[in-house]
Amino acid sequence: MHARAENSDAAAFRAIDVIRKKRDGHELSPSEIARLVDGYTRGEIPDYQISAWLMAALIRGLTRAETAALTDSMLHSGEVLDLSELAPVKVDKHSTGGVGDKTSLVLAPLVAAGGLVVPMISGRGLGHTGGTLDKLESIPGFRVDLPLDRFRTVLRACGCSMIGQTAEIAPADRKFYALRDVTGTVESPCLICASIMSKKLAEGVDALVLDVKSGSGAFMKTDEDASFLSELMVETGQRMGKKVVALITDMNQPLGFKIGNALEVEECIEVLRGGGPDDLRELCLELAACMFLLGGRVKHLAEGKELSQTLLRSGETLARFRKMVELQGGDPSAIDNPSRLPRAKQKVDLLASRDGFVGSMNCEEIGTACVVLGGGREKKEDSVDPAVGIVLRKKLGDRVANNEPICTLHYNSDSRAAQAKKLLGQSFEIQDAAPAPPPLIHRVIGSSSK
Ligand code: URA
Repeated sequence: MHARAENSDAAAFRAIDVIRKKRDGHELSPSEIARLVDGYTRGEIPDYQISAWLMAALIRGLTRAETAALTDSMLHSGEVLDLSELAPVKVDKHSTGGVGDKTSLVLAPLVAAGGLVVPMISGRGLGHTGGTLDKLESIPGFRVDLPLDRFRTVLRACGCSMIGQTAEIAPADRKFYALRDVTGTVESPCLICASIMSKKLAEGVDALVLDVKSGSGAFMKTDEDASFLSELMVETGQRMGKKVVALITDMNQPLGFKIGNALEVEECIEVLRGGGPDDLRELCLELAACMFLLGGRVKHLAEGKELSQTLLRSGETLARFRKMVELQGGDPSAIDNPSRLPRAKQKVDLLASRDGFVGSMNCEEIGTACVVLGGGREKKEDSVDPAVGIVLRKKLGDRVANNEPICTLHYNSDSRAAQAKKLLGQSFEIQDAAPAPPPLIHRVIGSSSK
């Protein structure tokens, strides 16, 4: 139950008391959590107090009841959309965040081309991970800040729309998310659950597919942690009457080859044209199949995968993406001709220091290197350079010769490139024998996994 703060007792509420209470490991009541969220959303509680509370919450953890209360308060910090007039079933997918993790740009138009409505409210880059909104904004003119009536119009016209949290939708999460990004408080399953589920429940979907990343480039480094987060989110969604399934997917290496905003859009266009890297295309097909199954469009996952393949090959998905870009103010000629996307001025290769096979990657460091290049934010107010990034030349298990390029940095600042190159130099381990390739999907949690 949502416990919104009452004006009358707001004066009695002191943020410092709940910071101390959480710091000392005690459980907060739903009303204390609601007051904290309300106070911050209204600008009455400053960033520094919420930062302290977030750190306490990350270190101490939140109980299921606290997580539910936080999700509920963030969900009701704004409007909960009713899109029932658009279609009987609205479906979405959300990822917990990874490196080169760009499936949303393929999935929204793909599932819309298959006849379902996809109202997608996404986030910006968080920590070392990229964000869908930053990627979309690398398309010249593309607007992610549509007012809700325009969001509905785009959904009606092309079945999918991708926007950021408006002042109306889960505004609390928008503020918490930006603060967590720069205070080292992202990696808490409870905070991630509240953040994701509040936005997703606010967008009026009936079914949700969660892509929970696990591995060196994910916030959850182990399948155990990823399973805990998955169960938390699936339970939260189901409690709210939604069909939810979570796929725990591999993030021990970036997805696809390209990392960085415009570079990732370019790689998605490759997939939308029926090509693209195998791992990225395969994951898109699996996630789309789950969305079709949960949305009642198909009876089996295999049927959903086949439908997705057909929609990609036929060019219908690309046409749908182009239409969405146009309706959201973007330049559709950048989709027809990706060389019109922003490009970095310079490139430099990182070379292998010996012969062997790529044995492991520190995928978080690869993501951080992209942030260092300017592709993400180190401070809340930082702007993002859409053109910079990293293109992998080798994936896990690939053979590499001494002095052969492992990856290419696309950059606009020499000092940033030098720093990023140093980080990347420590991120790839080359070994004598080829390792077994990691499976793309580690586990599936939740309903409808047939
Ligand atoms: N994605 C979100 O939307 N929120 C998080 O906290 C992490 C990933």
